[in-house]
Amino acid sequence: MTDLTGTSLIGAADVTGTAGGVFRAVDPATGEHTGPEYAECGPAEVARATELAATAFAAYRRTSPEQRAAFLESIAEEIEARAEAIAERYLAETGLPAGRATGETGRTTGQLRMFAATLREGGWLQVRIDPGNPQRTPAPKPDIRQRSVPLGPVAVFGASNFPLAFSVAGGDTASALAAGAPVVVKAHPSHPATSELVGQAIRAAVQRHGLPEGTFSLLQGASNELGAALVTDPRIAAVGFTGSRAGGLALVRLAQQREVPIPVYAEMSAVNPVFLLPGALAEKGEQLGVEFVTSVTGSAGQLCTKPGLAFVIEGESADAFVAAAGRALGEVAAAPMLNPGIARAYRSGTSATESTDGVRRVAGGAADESIACPGVAALYETTGAEFLAQPALQGEVFGPASLIVRVADEKELAAVVAVLEGQLTATVHATSADHDLAGELLGELELIAGRVLFGGWPTGVEVGHAMVHGGPFPSTSAPSTTSVGMRAIERFLRPVAYQNLPAELLPAELRDDNPLQIFRRVDGLPEA
Ligand code: NAP
Repeated sequence: MTDLTGTSLIGAADVTGTAGGVFRAVDPATGEHTGPEYAECGPAEVARATELAATAFAAYRRTSPEQRAAFLESIAEEIEARAEAIAERYLAETGLPAGRATGETGRTTGQLRMFAATLREGGWLQVRIDPGNPQRTPAPKPDIRQRSVPLGPVAVFGASNFPLAFSVAGGDTASALAAGAPVVVKAHPSHPATSELVGQAIRAAVQRHGLPEGTFSLLQGASNELGAALVTDPRIAAVGFTGSRAGGLALVRLAQQREVPIPVYAEMSAVNPVFLLPGALAEKGEQLGVEFVTSVTGSAGQLCTKPGLAFVIEGESADAFVAAAGRALGEVAAAPMLNPGIARAYRSGTSATESTDGVRRVAGGAADESIACPGVAALYETTGAEFLAQPALQGEVFGPASLIVRVADEKELAAVVAVLEGQLTATVHATSADHDLAGELLGELELIAGRVLFGGWPTGVEVGHAMVHGGPFPSTSAPSTTSVGMRAIERFLRPVAYQNLPAELLPAELRDDNPLQIFRRVDGLPEA
């Protein structure tokens, strides 16, 4: 059941890519190749997968919410049945600790089950009924009923840093399948074997439920051409992506240049600013310094919500915070980064920060020569004036590094907030003594971030009904959406209004007797 074949999974078939190249994963701890060799997919495989997906769409979109809920639950079960083999490949391909593999498996299966419950509840269909009134004068009022339908086959790009929860069976795939959209995944080339095992789990669930084989396909490859071919294929109706700003923007451009442009939901780069106000620093500055470093360096800093910027107002408590953070960071051991490319990008990102005028290195973590792709922690500081003068300091450095900005006063704090780019998160630490400033700040931060936190740290994204993992550009390409949480399903749906349909031709969710027993609005109010 858990044999690796080194192939792509196109519908029911194991397929060897025909683009010409081959690649293997690298264990970032040792630098050695690991797992089977994968042949790169090319145009022929993209065409086959999307053709099957388009065929599957005709039947899959008509499955009932209950059928899709049961399907998602089966995917979770199939993943659990392979959990040991998946964890083994995950650890070898990512260098992440065992706890991450377990945690991410639980998060992945948990979110599949949560989408199943959401499907059954039915609110996601957004049913609204405006009953007609043929007697209305001067013109009769039409009967209009709205529900949501899926967009069509979705292309999903697996993330490097979440091989499970943001990859083959991650949030993008779960939300698209829940919406009634077949999925073609381009696996991230950093972890092809983990992807293959999860792909096998989804395929087993497709077969268990007798769904069309094109409901799910998984393409392996390590070239921009493969992703480009997928996004520009006319049968693909939407794209889910997690990765770099450059990669996300390239896909957005390709999608917009198509004869029929399509939406790209790209989650890209964020530096997740944290604001430590004077009262909070006075009360527990040293403790906050230690907690901050834990958030910066967990998973070797390779989390999209890692705080890459911290703002403090000059003063003794700010000094104590910086000193405590520096001491804590000095004790952080180097850890493997996800792959050689990400380790290289991290080294060049930290060198660029370090050589920026007005930036001082506060502390560095311990190096470790035995790790092939090491992420050595680093903490920097600068002034508000330098930060304002050098926009490049806002750039994401993906890895265990962060920059503390010491602003002169509240006025300068307002000035830096005004220039901040869009963010996934923004965090405020304050006590009651800071509430006036905190209130002003929160009012500004809600305009630039998808999630605003009071206290705590942004790393660790709860999957739930209220979560937003999104935000204005450049954190995402689509600020009105979220890629985590139940509202993620909305990205792959569109509303349709049905006017004056005879009762017997109405879709089940729009019928007067509400056979699915779902939440609906009638004339704008919850149905009695
Ligand atoms: P990436 O380079 O953007 O790659 C992500 C996926 O997109 C891969 O499958 C890649 O495939 C594909 N891709 C990238 N550029 C493409 C293009 N121009 N055309 C078509 N497909 C393209 O991201 P990554 O490998 O995860 O990491 C690189 C950097 O991304 C990191 O150093 C970090 O800065 C950032 N990152 C940010 C987050 C976040 O959540 N903010 C998460 C992960 C990474 P191929 O390589 O096979 O073309």
